[in-house]
Amino acid sequence: MLKEVKTRYIKNCAKCGREIKVGWTAYFNPDTKELFCKPCGQIINKENPESVTKSEGTASDSQFDMLLDMLSKQSEQLSIASIALCLLREQIDGILNPIPEPKKSTKSK
Ligand SMILES: [Zn+2]
Repeated sequence: MLKEVKTRYIKNCAKCGREIKVGWTAYFNPDTKELFCKPCGQIINKENPESVTKSEGTASDSQFDMLLDMLSKQSEQLSIASIALCLLREQIDGILNPIPEPKKSTKSK
């Protein structure tokens, strides 16, 4: 069974030999002490579906993912709305409290 890990040292993938750099997501096999890069680890996990721990509750997982996706999209829209509100408030402030003319223009007169 492969474990998803964040690498803390540089190592080569045990399958394709690609260099796995520090901080990358990689797959570690505790039984053989082999480290695989993300694509290789995913392929190995797909080839051995029995070894994957996530065999139950996949439906709820995907629902959770959907919820997360929705929330992130909504928060994105919210942030856009808040930016628009800020701009609007600035415009209203400008109308209500006209900015006094800068000193430069008084000099030119
Ligand atoms: Zn690899």
